[in-house]
Amino acid sequence: MKTLGLIGGMSAESTSVYYQTLNRLVRERLGGLHSAKLVLWSLDFAPIAELQAQDDWEATGVELAAAARALEAAGAQAMLICANTMHLNAPEVQAAVAAPLIHIGDATANALKAQGVKRALLLGTRFTMEKAFYRERLEAAGLAVLTPDAAERERLHAIIFDELCQGVSSEPSRAVVLAMIEQGRKAGADGIIFGCTEIGLLLNPADMPLPTVDTAIAHCEAAIDFALG
Ligand code: GLU
Repeated sequence: MKTLGLIGGMSAESTSVYYQTLNRLVRERLGGLHSAKLVLWSLDFAPIAELQAQDDWEATGVELAAAARALEAAGAQAMLICANTMHLNAPEVQAAVAAPLIHIGDATANALKAQGVKRALLLGTRFTMEKAFYRERLEAAGLAVLTPDAAERERLHAIIFDELCQGVSSEPSRAVVLAMIEQGRKAGADGIIFGCTEIGLLLNPADMPLPTVDTAIAHCEAAIDFALG
């Protein structure tokens, strides 16, 4: 089994999901007392979120590249950025290390296509929904991408940062996101992307009206395929 390197803490809430999911998947595949081999570099999210808000992606890139180098020095044989937004710095992270970066966008595109999705509603932070880096990765894989309208994107962004990343999962917010999903379905989406690693803390993909990919889970599955492959 190969050793995974996790750049986490963005937020810590979803990094816990990664840790649990990676270990569960290894146990399911190998049985008994098997668990994932991994090294975790968990960042303090407050300064990172501050830089995101300032649109200073050069500074976040320096921070993440340093984390990747530390993970590689500690024995990591593949890198995972445990967030969608921070894949904006995927090129900087990959350039910093020899170990391959397992890209969350690729894992997501593969999981969507396996469910027959062609036109997906992307739910995530404002950065993930509005900047090109994520949409283009999915489009390059042959998928069409829809997002909620501007006011809804702002609302979802606030739910992610003010609640989910701080360990709060509320009924009113669940209703807000479900309404966005209903809108997306009416607009022609045939699938849903939980394109923020915290959305799975609010909603269960199995309860959604359309095929749904939780990016945190799809990312962990791709990582374990690599680790055990
Ligand atoms: N974990 C998040 C994501 O998947 C949001 C936090 C962040 O902006 O990094 O995008």
